Amino acid sequence: MRIILLGAPGSGKGTQSKLLMAKYQIPQVSTGDLLRAAVSEQTELGLKAKAAMDAGQLVSDEIVLGMIRERLSKDDARNGFILDGFPRNLAQAEALDPLLKEMGQPLTAALLIDVDKASLMQRLTGRRTCKSCGQVYNVYTHPPHTEGRCDECGGELLQRSDDHEDTIGNRLQVYEAQTEPLIAFYGAQGILCKTTGDGEVEDIFARITGLLEDAARGNIHD
Ligand code: AMP
Repeated sequence: MRIILLGAPGSGKGTQSKLLMAKYQIPQVSTGDLLRAAVSEQTELGLKAKAAMDAGQLVSDEIVLGMIRERLSKDDARNGFILDGFPRNLAQAEALDPLLKEMGQPLTAALLIDVDKASLMQRLTGRRTCKSCGQVYNVYTHPPHTEGRCDECGGELLQRSDDHEDTIGNRLQVYEAQTEPLIAFYGAQGILCKTTGDGEVEDIFARITGLLEDAARGNIHD
């Protein structure tokens, strides 16, 4: 399966990607995670990306496309991948098509996780991520058993620096202006599937796998 997950920040793309990765044994390719790793390692690329990320703006297409090209050429992406947070604008989507064509890896589906805008702010301000294993919690809707500690591995839970209210507003605006047009882009390619991202994680996952397995058989529901 070669999947793009579309959806606003906070729609649950990361959570669903981790479940998809385990079920289909394909890697999650998150440009946000790759960029955060570069920032924390203080690589040259990370230093270039940091200001845009802190402001809730997009990092340059050139940086992100370079990262994607390199990541998709790794062996573990040969049997499929989940793109999470990429593409983020039309220029990236238009650059991805020839890259996948060159690799002989056409997309199975672009799946939109649709969450109403009012819920997104609570999801984002409440989000905490385990520093050690990446497990995601929400202090309002899915708190850990022990405050500040991961249920899975006991690691420290951190709030992302761009999950504060002032930056979140910018990220949601950027999503509407630059990423939402991709819904029509993949709709026109005939590979768009949609589900609501409201409800329990397991129920959303069941809907998503149903849609993706249909899409893999050539049956797209939009
Ligand atoms: P995310 O974890 O996907 O919410 O991404 C966090 C931040 O990383 C975004 O607000 C952007 O600053 C940057 N970023 C992630 N993916 C991309 C992308 N495909 N294009 C440009 N910037 C990105």
